[in-house]
Order: sequence, then C-alpha cells, then structure tokens
Amino acid sequence: MSPSELISRGEYFSQWRGGGGQVCAVFPAQYPRELLWAHGVLPMEVWDPPLAPARAQGHLQPYICSVVRQGLELFLAGGLDDVGAILFPHTCDSLQNLASLVEDYLDPPAPSLFFYNPKAPFAAAAKGFYVAQLQTLERELTRVFGPQPPEGMARALEWSRRLSELYAQAYSRRAAGELGVGAAEFYRVLRGGEYMHPRDYIPLLEGWLASAPANGGGQGQGIILSGVLPSPPDLLETLDELGFRVVHDDLISMSRRLLYPPPGEGDPYEALAESFLSMPPCSTRGSSLSERLEWLKGLARAGGAQGVVFSVVKFCEPELFDLPELRRGLKEAGLPSLVLEVDVNQEVGGQAATRLEAFGEMLS
Ligand code: SF4
Repeated sequence: MSPSELISRGEYFSQWRGGGGQVCAVFPAQYPRELLWAHGVLPMEVWDPPLAPARAQGHLQPYICSVVRQGLELFLAGGLDDVGAILFPHTCDSLQNLASLVEDYLDPPAPSLFFYNPKAPFAAAAKGFYVAQLQTLERELTRVFGPQPPEGMARALEWSRRLSELYAQAYSRRAAGELGVGAAEFYRVLRGGEYMHPRDYIPLLEGWLASAPANGGGQGQGIILSGVLPSPPDLLETLDELGFRVVHDDLISMSRRLLYPPPGEGDPYEALAESFLSMPPCSTRGSSLSERLEWLKGLARAGGAQGVVFSVVKFCEPELFDLPELRRGLKEAGLPSLVLEVDVNQEVGGQAATRLEAFGEMLS
C-alpha cells in the first residue's frame, strides 16, 4: 500500500456512514477501543480537526489548548451531528471541562459517554476500578447501539492483538534504522488508526510495512519526539527536510497509548485492564517524573538518539508541569532537548525551522 492511497478522515467517515455503519466520536486520549469495535461501532478520534478559528473561542478561556478548541470548533460546526455518541475519556481537566460544557450547555446531537481512567500510582484497587469503568461503558454502549453481536468481543480482541504486533514492528524497525521512511510518512500512516476500522486498517498497515523500504529516510541526528501528537504537519516535514531521524516518540497520541502488551486470554475485562496498567508512563495518567525520565532515556538508548524535541501544545498543563524536571534529568544524562510550543493547526513556520537547524548542529 502506498501512503497516497490512505483516504482522509472525512472521506472514510462518509464511506462508513454511507454503508450504514455506526460511529462514536472520541475525544483524546486513551479509551477501550475494543469495546466499541465489539459493538460494531467505529471510533472516530477527534484530535486536530483542520478548521479555521470561529465560534469555539466564544465558549472557552483564551488559555485553553488548541486540541480542546479545535474539537469544540468541530462540534459547533456540525461535524459531530451524524455520530451515534460522543465519548469523553477523562484525560485532563481541560477535556473534562469540555465534556461538561458540551453536555450541560450545548445540547449535543448524540448521547455523551464518559470514561474515567484510574491515575497513577496504581494501587491494588486500580484494576478493579478500571474493570468497573469498562462495565459501565459496556452498559452505555448497549443502551445506545444495542447489544454486542456474538463473538463481537473475541473479534475485537484479535484485532487489538494484531494491531499491537504491527505497531511494535513499525516502531522497532524504525528504531533499528530498518524502516526507510521519514517522519511525515510514518505518522501519516499510523494516524490512519485514529479513524479507520481495524478490518480496513490492519491490511493497510500490513501492506505498508511489507512494501516500505529498509533504507532511506533521514540520515542526520537521531531524536526522540515528545509531546501530545505529531502535528502540525509542517513540523514533520521540517524534521524530514533537515534530515533528522526520529528514532522513537513519546507522544500521547502515539507510543504512549499504542505500544503496550496486547490483551491476553481469559476474561476480556481483566485482560483490557492489565493492558491499560502496562502502558508506558504518561503525564495524563499521573505517572511519576522519574518513571517518565527513565522511559525517555531508555528510548534514546535503544534508538541511538542524541537529543529530544518536545513539541508541546500551548497551554497543555499535564505536559508543561513535567517539562522542567524532564529536561533537567535529560541534560544530566547527556541528552540535550529543545522545546517548541505549538498549536495543532498552526504551522510552526520558519522560526521553528531555524531553531531545529541550530539544535541539529549543536547535536552534531
Ligand atoms: S493537549 Fe494537553 S491540555 Fe489539551 S486536551 Fe491534550 S492533554 Fe489536555
């Protein structure tokens, strides 16, 4: 498969709805997508809709991040009018407030569903709490979309396991220098999983991995890309143009929720809870700074990275709280870092390119 064959989120949504499929819009970040698949529902994730600023700013304080702002913009523009439900995971205070705003004041076109992740440090009760959350969401999905078909959950877990294998393969080949594609292509393909059903996405990912060259891509300094999501697109293009090798990432939308042990056998809820508790450390899950620091240093060691680029969404409190200590710890470990503050749909532009170029020279 060539990345040019990957259709856009909007086209895929229209095709899916045209075929009579049900959709649940999902706000960031982590949620049990297997439950939605088990009901035959397509999760359509809302991260950075490409809309011009319009009505959302009238509902939000100016210091709210662009992920929440753009999500609300999509909602207000009618972009969620044709979904069967809207799911709000409890990722951060800003998203929690967005959920309240939508549910209490904006008359949503579809039922709002909520999912509360336990936060670290995970005590003994965390697994039971997560299982209870899964059971609540299952009841809500049954109320809105009807009961799961027979074998629905078994099929969903199989898809989840296969996707885990493919994500792990993509990341490990890239870290070993055996996936000759740049950052723009890598993330364009991986972001297909934010809106495609696994029935369509798994073969696409398999085809891409089978045909992607082993050599090529950036030949310059190796970096870890940390932050919320691989956006705006011109940031990735700039990294490619400057020859950076993104050997791994520590992005909330990517490795922090895609690379984890797949659900095992036995009770599906227990298996999903165990997967959740094994996810990489994340500011939105309340992980400790020391755990995050060790994780970042390990990623850099494994991929031979010389530095870390933090692409932080402006006003993202969970990430900004961790940043000073992480940078200090990385510096002590001989890993310089650069911070770019971004808005998800605003180009980083020439100034960021100049800073990245200088950072690359410093690393070399
Ligand atoms: S960018 Fe940060 S503050 Fe905004 S929704 Fe994501 S985690 Fe929350």
